[in-house]
Amino acid sequence: MERENDRLRELMSTSRIETTNEDAAAASNRSLIYSIIWQQGPVSRSDLVRKTSLTKSTVSSHVDDLIDSGFIKENGLRQSSSTGGRRAVLLEVNPESHIVAGIHIGVRQTTVVLADAQGNEVDSVTKRTSQKTPTSALQETATTVRTLLSRTKIPFSRLAAVGVALPGVVQPDTGTCIIAPNLGWRDIPVADVLQSELNVPVFVNNTTQAMAVAESQYVGARGESPDLALLYVGTGIGAAVVDNGRLFRGRSGYAGEIGHVGVGSGILCSCGKVGCLETLVSGPAIARRSQEAGFEGSLDGQASTELIGRAAISGDRAARKLLDDVGRDLGHAAAWLLQIAGPDTLVIGGGVSALGNLIMEPLRAGLRESAMAAVADTVTVRRSYLDSRAKLRGATLTALQQVDEPRRGLLAR
Ligand SMILES: [Zn+2]
Repeated sequence: MERENDRLRELMSTSRIETTNEDAAAASNRSLIYSIIWQQGPVSRSDLVRKTSLTKSTVSSHVDDLIDSGFIKENGLRQSSSTGGRRAVLLEVNPESHIVAGIHIGVRQTTVVLADAQGNEVDSVTKRTSQKTPTSALQETATTVRTLLSRTKIPFSRLAAVGVALPGVVQPDTGTCIIAPNLGWRDIPVADVLQSELNVPVFVNNTTQAMAVAESQYVGARGESPDLALLYVGTGIGAAVVDNGRLFRGRSGYAGEIGHVGVGSGILCSCGKVGCLETLVSGPAIARRSQEAGFEGSLDGQASTELIGRAAISGDRAARKLLDDVGRDLGHAAAWLLQIAGPDTLVIGGGVSALGNLIMEPLRAGLRESAMAAVADTVTVRRSYLDSRAKLRGATLTALQQVDEPRRGLLAR
């Protein structure tokens, strides 16, 4: 197992492996099979044949390889149906095949979690986000990963990958944080810094993307469609789309950055532009709008959101009107997202979504006003199931989801 992991780490550190077309196709099929077992397991060999449209013998050969190399294992037999036929052997990811670290860097706190290959948490620690330079903050985080490994007595060699979620624009190919206004980061090579500290592949998503990945995996495991668009409404606004089970990353890193699209509010935004969506519907925007409406209280977005929520629940008409306006504005923005991405489900996450129906009802109304009826009537709009847990879970999955990525060659040979 130890030698397998060395090989695994070696393969993962190689960003490009020279292969023939045939090798590449085999690697891609093996990755596909692994990823279905990971996302939808336990599954049987005939499930895999059905889901991949590969031949029975191709599936069998890849499954045998994956079992031999320790990536997956057999786990019992499917519950017998009344027909009395032969019961299928179920396959699942071998949780012990490797360990990943998930890192969520928040504005206030940074959490590091170790998880097994199935994503089960092994240990975690939360610290204040370091206010030192970004590089030394990342180096401290790497030290935390090493500390966690040593306190759980897991050999360093079993660490296969690191996933990071942070509130900023991330260039998908390089894992560089282009800008994270709330962290004060600009052009920080996050993946490179952590990779040189920990010597394993590091993958970085922005927080909204990580949440979408987590939400998608969560519903996928319940047998629902993993495809969704997530609209994050907190201190900032962001969107992320999972299509066909995969996060849509785009090329530039700006995919989903809808918070800084102009909507003509006439208000100066934190990005330096005037009139962005974020000036209208984020937590801080609710704080400003509540001040304008005459509510006393903190200018802090979260406190204001809670204050307005309580006032609305107790029947305050001005508070209700304010949330109604914010919700409708969100619905109008969401209409664009839905008509471009075409998901079955729109998930609302972030602190503002904690207002529940106070915000969800006007959001649905705004959607009906702005989107085509066929879109507004058929899309499921709901709050995030995972809520605040989605960020860290998403960071872990950012590492795990890449494990099966064909171009990284993890399962290629
Ligand atoms: Zn802006």
